[in-house]
Amino acid sequence: MSAGPFPLRSLCRDCLADHDAAVPLRRCPACGSPRLIRHTERDTLSLAHIDCDAFYATIEKRDDPSLQDKPVIVGGGKRGVVSTCCYIARTYGVRSAMPMFKALKACPEAVVIKPDMAKYVAVGREVRRMMRELTPLVEPLSIDEAFLDLSGTERLHHASPAATLARFARHVEAELGITVSIGLSYAKFLAKVASDLDKPRGFSIIGRAEAVGFLADKPLGLIPGMGPASVAKLAEGGFRLIGDLREAPVDKLFRLAGKDGPRLKNLANGIDPRQVTPERETKSVSSETTLDVDLARFEELEPILWRLCEKTSKRLKAQELAGRTITLKLKTADFHIITRAARLPEPTQLAARLFTAGRDLLKRECNGAQYRLIGIGTSDFSPPGDADHGDLADTATPRLKAMEGALDKLRARYGDAAIGKGLSLRLPQRPAGSAISRKAPEEEDPDA
Ligand SMILES: [Mg+2]
Repeated sequence: MSAGPFPLRSLCRDCLADHDAAVPLRRCPACGSPRLIRHTERDTLSLAHIDCDAFYATIEKRDDPSLQDKPVIVGGGKRGVVSTCCYIARTYGVRSAMPMFKALKACPEAVVIKPDMAKYVAVGREVRRMMRELTPLVEPLSIDEAFLDLSGTERLHHASPAATLARFARHVEAELGITVSIGLSYAKFLAKVASDLDKPRGFSIIGRAEAVGFLADKPLGLIPGMGPASVAKLAEGGFRLIGDLREAPVDKLFRLAGKDGPRLKNLANGIDPRQVTPERETKSVSSETTLDVDLARFEELEPILWRLCEKTSKRLKAQELAGRTITLKLKTADFHIITRAARLPEPTQLAARLFTAGRDLLKRECNGAQYRLIGIGTSDFSPPGDADHGDLADTATPRLKAMEGALDKLRARYGDAAIGKGLSLRLPQRPAGSAISRKAPEEEDPDA
């Protein structure tokens, strides 16, 4: 992106030739391609974010070449929203998460395809396997994107991280028939921002020297995880651009953004010390809480179990996992641990289904024993596409799935607190003056 001193080496993303030139090249002298990577810090950066381009839609186009030049939307089904749309559909204003009727109004000629999650998961696994050939330090963020730390891999690949990544992008296109965009930087946040700069088939670099200047005039929404609510809150305090946060008083940021305040200020200054943490294979996803006072009655434990189910469900969804075995964990007042498991007819991600299974298990253990801890976990995982279809005898599950999906969206928009309460109110009320009404128990995150 920056000019900088010459000669600058220009790496061709198509033929991988690397050229020295006294002036910036417009095209590769070897193959004529204009897709050159040139940056002063090109060979000193090793933290990458790789993101597949319009993942589901690209896979569908690969599998049906007649779709190549058509606007393609993957989505629909019960929730009636766009999952992914191709870049042609985007030129009509179609976006992911848009209601399908709106998308089709914007682009009536779009070809709508029902998601085939099993297929996408299989391609996602292949991409991940190829990433692991570059470095063991691969941290997946979702089915189609990951952070990679390529430091120290020069000798293994006989190439700088930038050249290794360019080769990877070419390799994915040839092997899997899909495309990726790559961001290369020195920090996670900037690598992620960079990968989005010239999608599809992008390759962008944000170096140390330019980071702060680059960020200065960008909107706060560019910061990953900044939702409209947080952006609005910071705007109240006069912060609109990332650069506005650079010199912000920490106490003021703390008032507006809470614990996130110092992090935001750091990001505005190009500081993001987070490391790439490789994925451990997840064997179980669970939530548990130690109670303030020991409890024995089912009616008192039930609402706590509900909250833990909501939390576990949220984690399952975040990790794109669905569990079939549900495990209830209890610790008695004298520290004996009891676990009871049930197997569902199909895998689930839904809080309501975890709860139904969990409360049956709990009921049987409420036999007078006092408990100091309660937890709910899931294991025996499948991809989310296999979960919660119901069957002829179970027509409630698809409805529950639609309802939870709608609530999840509201939560994403307005925050957990407002919505969580609404649903929890539908549970039997605990008796007045019961032990837990004095103070809500602190929840613990065993997998955090
Ligand atoms: Mg993507």
